[in-house]
Amino acid sequence: MATLGNPQETIAVLQKYGFNFQKKFGQNFLIDTHVLDKIIAAAEIGPDDFVLEIGPGIGTMTQYLAESAREVVAVEIDKNLIPILEDTLSAYDNVTVINDDILKVDIQKLAEEKNGGKPIKVVANLPYYITTPIIMGLFESEVPLSSITVMVQKEVADRMQTGPGSKDYGALSLAVQYYAEPYIVANVPPNCFMPRPAVGSAVIRLTRYEKKPVEVKDPAFMFKLIRASFNQRRKTLQNGLHNSSELQLPKEKVVQALEEMGLPAAVRGEKLDLAQFARLADLLCE
Ligand code: SAM
Repeated sequence: MATLGNPQETIAVLQKYGFNFQKKFGQNFLIDTHVLDKIIAAAEIGPDDFVLEIGPGIGTMTQYLAESAREVVAVEIDKNLIPILEDTLSAYDNVTVINDDILKVDIQKLAEEKNGGKPIKVVANLPYYITTPIIMGLFESEVPLSSITVMVQKEVADRMQTGPGSKDYGALSLAVQYYAEPYIVANVPPNCFMPRPAVGSAVIRLTRYEKKPVEVKDPAFMFKLIRASFNQRRKTLQNGLHNSSELQLPKEKVVQALEEMGLPAAVRGEKLDLAQFARLADLLCE
């Protein structure tokens, strides 16, 4: 039975080990069982699943995961948490804790060894200072993955889920939506954590597409276009792309491509959806 996930138990564990929170590691531990239940339900963990947890903290969510999954590997950077995790997870024989930086772990190899190369599920209350590198790293490295269910800063969840026309729409929205279907499961206020973060949080599930939603000849080039378009958000697309030192596209070529797509010459990048960026990339990479 999971024993953590409430303020009393969390405080008791922290006191027992004289643990001090490290701000640099983004340590905000969950102390709300309802939120934990929601994360586990949204992740749809079954008895056949292999789950990778990023940043187990004192093992609160790890206990829940261990009870639902076949096997859990939890990667924690803070060595001071390792003896605590040995204690709080001692009742589970299907959990392995790795003391490392998640950005340095070979997840591909882990999925191969632990799950025979089949798609894994990632579940985490993420350290907010590295949310984007973790999520994009997982997608871009083509790790076999079926879903990522994570707690992130509310504003970041909004950016991942939104489409053209919203102020939150940008390179992150398009990057995430190229790989996965985003769904915000719940908004989570600061009082569900210890210590309380300064920002609101949200749980988002990213269900990886088996087949990409758009076809594009050179995805890396499309993402260069996307970055250049949003780097100069207030510029028109033709100026933004022309001015980008990374792309060095002649203005006439951009104008011609926009025309071919039936878009106004003064259109801004924030108006284009993923399919339009894909088409533009195909026209411009020729
Ligand atoms: N899962 C716990 C919970 O929900 O209570 C803790 C979540 S806390 C927001 C983030 C955790 O990630 C912390 O335990 C922190 O030490 C760990 N962490 C931070 N950076 C990390 C990294 N680069 N690799 C692995 N773990 C990291």
